[in-house]
Parts: sequence; C-alpha cells; structure tokens
Amino acid sequence: MLPQLGSNDYTLTMDSNNCIFCKIAKKEIPSKLIFENDDFVAFNDIKPVSPTHVLVIPKTHYGNLLEVKEKELLGKLLHTVKEVANQLNLKEGFRTVINTGDNGGQTVYHLHVHILGGRFHKWPPG
Ligand code: 5GP
Ligand code: ZN
Repeated sequence: MLPQLGSNDYTLTMDSNNCIFCKIAKKEIPSKLIFENDDFVAFNDIKPVSPTHVLVIPKTHYGNLLEVKEKELLGKLLHTVKEVANQLNLKEGFRTVINTGDNGGQTVYHLHVHILGGRFHKWPPG
C-alpha cells in the first residue's frame, strides 16, 4: 500500500526546480536583491504587511527549518538577519518570523526569515 502523503509530510516539500525563491536566489527571475553574501540573499516581500518587509533566504534550497541539518548554516542565517536588519536601519526594533509548515502558515516552501519593521508589531500574533 502506498504511504499517505499530505502537505504535512516534510518529504513532500517543493523541490528546487519548481521553487520561486530558488529562482530569485539564482537571479533567474528579476528581483531586486537588497543584500547578498556567500550563502544568503535578501529581498523585499512582494506583498508587504509592514512598511519594511524583507525576506532572508539561503541560496541552497531547504523546504523549511525542519529540513536544515547543518547547525552552522542556522547560525549564519541568524547572523545574516542581523546584518540585514542593521542595513535597513531598524533602530526602533523589528519582528523576525519563520513560518514552518501548515500550522505555521508557511506558503512558500523554501526556508525564509521575515524581517518586519517600521511599525509596532503586537504580540501574540494571529
Ligand atoms: P510564508 O507565508 O511562507 O512565511 O511567506 C511567504 C512570503 O513570500 C509571503 O509574505 C509572500 O508575500 C512572499 N512571496 C511569495 N511569492 C513571492 C515572490 O514571487 N516574490 C517575493 N518578493 N515575495 C514573494
Ligand atoms: Zn528553493
């Protein structure tokens, strides 16, 4: 019998060939990158929910946080988020978000960190 695979099965996350964020990272589709280093790029969210809404993504495809095995990459990711936030001059603070899976509200299955700034962000989120 075939296993029942649903959207909660992380083996089913989108592959890099069909991934919009891979295409952005590889500059295969036009998108203004606001930051780039060896492992990550950052760009403005297409549907901003805050005056500043930037996404930081690894250049390598990982469907989401659960797919990352390399501890070093996660450290570098958070460090890059800090660098991008500094570049954005978000002196009054900002919200960082990583949505993971269906219950996390993830819609694009390529790991990304949202940086939200320019307004107050209430807690808890919806
Ligand atoms: P998630 O809900 O997966 O955490 O967030 C995905 C985010 O990607 C959403 O905020 C959405 O607006 C953004 N997004 C989806 N497609 C594109 C795109 O083609 N370009 C850009 N810049 N952002 C996108
Ligand atoms: Zn991808």
